[in-house]
Amino acid sequence: MSLTRKRCTKCVLSESFPRIKFDANGVCSYCNKSNQYVDTDQMIKDAKKKIDELFDGNQCKGDYDAIVCYSGGKDSTYTLQLAIEKYKLRVLAFTLDNDFISPAAWGNIRTVTNNLGVDHVVFKPNVKHFNAITKASVENAIYNKNTLSRISAVCNSCISMVNTTALKMALEKHIPFILAGFTLGQIPLNSIIYKNNQKFLAESRQASLQKLRELVGPSVDNYLSINSASLEDTLNYPHTVNILCIENISEQAILEQVRKLGWTSPGDVDGCSSNCMLNTFSNHVHEKIFDYNPYELELSHLIRENLLSRSEAMDKLNQRPENLIPVIKERLSIDDDAIERVKLDYAAK
Ligand SMILES: [Zn+2]
Repeated sequence: MSLTRKRCTKCVLSESFPRIKFDANGVCSYCNKSNQYVDTDQMIKDAKKKIDELFDGNQCKGDYDAIVCYSGGKDSTYTLQLAIEKYKLRVLAFTLDNDFISPAAWGNIRTVTNNLGVDHVVFKPNVKHFNAITKASVENAIYNKNTLSRISAVCNSCISMVNTTALKMALEKHIPFILAGFTLGQIPLNSIIYKNNQKFLAESRQASLQKLRELVGPSVDNYLSINSASLEDTLNYPHTVNILCIENISEQAILEQVRKLGWTSPGDVDGCSSNCMLNTFSNHVHEKIFDYNPYELELSHLIRENLLSRSEAMDKLNQRPENLIPVIKERLSIDDDAIERVKLDYAAK
């Protein structure tokens, strides 16, 4: 992707971002429209109140109050810290090992879970199955284009596995909360807290799940399906809560906090991820297909909220260990022609 492409002069959205327009000063329609339709501050205030009520009123009978989906990145590290130190929850940290977590990130995971004194489980899907699902997500137009404006197809598959595994564990162990480390910009405002739409979410994922099943085989159900009996059991559903969304905290301040726990910036991943070596490759494929980086929307949101400067965001977009791309392409045996075909398929969608 050209580094000199036309971008919004306020945020970092590029001219190929869906439905974007620029005014005479080069400011994008997303910056000009921000806060015009929804009162973000009020929604965050409401979410804050609801989260306090939920955590206070929770009479948990099991061993844990919450599962924290812990990738080892800075945001989920800070989420883990908040859960334990601010909200005083009894936490089970959970990491999905996708075989691409960087060695430096594993060091952080060990240090932070030790320093916080938290129970931690790692689930590692069969590497053949994980790689087959990843390859299928790269080489086929599986997902909705709208979803892919905020996340790459590879990350979407991997995070779906994280969410499904966390949900299964929460149901099994009767854990009432699942905490994820997303920021606003990565998820829509109405996803800060959710509970009762699990069945709807499962149904909305049916089409992509069916395509993956056809491409990869029945193993996808081990990682991406919840049985319908569990989905009917609405009483025992855990709430999914993104507590980081209600913290008005800058990236710098998050880094200062997590460094106190012994977390260090891993030098072996790209600027947009602080744990996963697959990310550079996922972004590269996304840029080839859609001509913009899947992190642009999140970064532009953080800039509009004054939580990140534009130059910090540009540094993140430009920090990319390109040497990882051919290594990962070979490991997943990705076919370049397939990416070209997928580009045409998404364009026709
Ligand atoms: Zn903008």
